Amino acid sequence: MRASHEILFASTNADKLAEFQALLAAYPEVKLLPAAKILRNAEKLAKVEIFQTYVENAMAKARFANQGAHYPCLADDSGLEIEALGNQPGPRTARYAAATAGQSQDQANMAKVLDELKGRPREARRAQFVCCLALVMEGVAIHVNGVLKGTIAEAPMGSQGFGYDPIFIPDGHTKTLAQMGDADKNRISHRAAALQLLMEEIRRRGLILARP
Ligand code: IMP
Repeated sequence: MRASHEILFASTNADKLAEFQALLAAYPEVKLLPAAKILRNAEKLAKVEIFQTYVENAMAKARFANQGAHYPCLADDSGLEIEALGNQPGPRTARYAAATAGQSQDQANMAKVLDELKGRPREARRAQFVCCLALVMEGVAIHVNGVLKGTIAEAPMGSQGFGYDPIFIPDGHTKTLAQMGDADKNRISHRAAALQLLMEEIRRRGLILARP
């Protein structure tokens, strides 16, 4: 890849941005620009996530940003799929539960999942994180999926990471993602897997990531 590729990150999620910034340290030729710095209407990004699938939501966010700024735009739509719950919450992961007073959205979401799995043995707590990445630029719209398989813990453990990290134990590990910390999470995460696939696709197509 050529040096100095600039990609607009079509999201206002600071946790996702931080993970991508860390993951992109392996690709020093790529510079990720936060939507809030470039797009005048970045707060509207969340409003275009109206679909039932990750790919439609990711494409909608990347297209919305690309129309507003004409940079190559990267969007992430991700979610948690729990086998025993028929792969819910899926694309509704971010707002699975209604938060009550004094409770964060993440706490409410995790409490709902733990309640729904209450009393189920480890083998009935199988789950996976999915990350769909969409890249939209002049004449190009591509998407890839990364997956991380694991088990839902019986209680939240750990304070690092974000979202459902305190209740997700990746396969082959004994700690939750929130206990493992960023460096270890970034070696195995659904986001890391998707980014690697996207970079391979960018190389394979010989794409130059620049404004037209
Ligand atoms: P969306 O992609 O904006 O629809 O939000 C996805 C939601 O999935 C986030 O708000 C988190 O709750 C959850 N999520 C996605 N990736 C992760 C992760 O790496 N760890 C924990 N939770 C995640």
